Amino acid sequence: MDKLTPQQRHANMAAIHSKDTKPEMIVRRGLWKRGFRYRLNHKRLPGHPDLVLRKYRTCIFVNGCFWHGHRINLQFDDLQFTISSSECCKIPKTNREFWVAKIRRNKERDKEEQRKLAEMGWHCITVWECELTPKRREETLESLAFTLNHIWLQDHGAKSVPYPQLEEEDMQMPMAAEE
Ligand SMILES: [Zn+2]
Repeated sequence: MDKLTPQQRHANMAAIHSKDTKPEMIVRRGLWKRGFRYRLNHKRLPGHPDLVLRKYRTCIFVNGCFWHGHRINLQFDDLQFTISSSECCKIPKTNREFWVAKIRRNKERDKEEQRKLAEMGWHCITVWECELTPKRREETLESLAFTLNHIWLQDHGAKSVPYPQLEEEDMQMPMAAEE
């Protein structure tokens, strides 16, 4: 049945492996199970969000703690940037400057892409790798589902509530899940 040569199969497996990193799969499965439907790696949106939920106008990024510098402290000191490692992101001691620059660039890029998405009217949610450990996973997915429902209600709910101060309240309504 299997018509692939071993080399082709290997290439296939490698491609699948690099695309479907484990934390992302956990989020995908968790949301699917809860009835959410999404598109993957939307090429035309800034930053190619891992999951795109059009109905909720929401992009979800599943970020690795090291590469995206989770919880690191970025300071501008003595005309240079210093970064203190966090529990999530330990900067290697060798080639430290290289890693600091690299992680800083990644963080800046993430911020810029999410700013562009927000301008286009998308909500952005970042799920961190450390929030998907077996212990924390269910809680993270539950709160993600809660946030998505909340976003939907904010975007759609207000219109159907006949209520005199609606306009004023609308203006003050905070945006959910945006930093
Ligand atoms: Zn983390």
